[in-house]
Amino acid sequence: MHNDIAEILITEKELQSRIAELGKEVAKDYEGKTPIFVGVLKGAIMFFADMVRATPIPCEYDFMAVSSYGAGTISSGKINLIKDLSADIKGRHVVILEDILDTGNTLRFVVDHLMEKEPASLKICALLDKPSRRTAPIEADYVGFTIPNQFVVGYGLDYDEIYRNIPYVGILKPEVYKK
Ligand code: 5GP
Ligand code: MG
Repeated sequence: MHNDIAEILITEKELQSRIAELGKEVAKDYEGKTPIFVGVLKGAIMFFADMVRATPIPCEYDFMAVSSYGAGTISSGKINLIKDLSADIKGRHVVILEDILDTGNTLRFVVDHLMEKEPASLKICALLDKPSRRTAPIEADYVGFTIPNQFVVGYGLDYDEIYRNIPYVGILKPEVYKK
């Protein structure tokens, strides 16, 4: 599995130190508000688990699942809702935790969907941002790392459902998905 990684882009240590900073920032911004963190399955789960533990304020959490990619490395653009929230977010402060903001199609869909539920506020926290690929009008309020336009895996991110359990973020060797 590790042999399929061309280069480690973000080490475990770098992930943890940046998440510690992000958690402090979010905790400061939501002091006294008891936000609901919404994780977007499945890619965000590692980031979600580390991020909520780095944010030392009372909070709730919930999950939703959407799909866009299939087995490719380029977003199909068509987003399907696979699992909706179980919590009622009406009047609540919501923070979406997502693995990566790429074209923006996924988060555009997620934000539009959640806004219909009338939260008091809605912000986006993305671990990774590939701004050069954006086609949908959307930006994150909190970004962990801005990365170049390369297909990355690990720390929750998959290629064809594999590599999610790699503890760092790495660039996948192109020959793996060109096969
Ligand atoms: P968007 O809809 O913004 O184009 O893409 C967001 C989703 O596409 C992410 O939640 C993630 O599942 C997937 N994605 C985008 N870029 C990458 C990447 O470099 N690696 C992996 N593994 N998934 C990506
Ligand atoms: Mg995802």
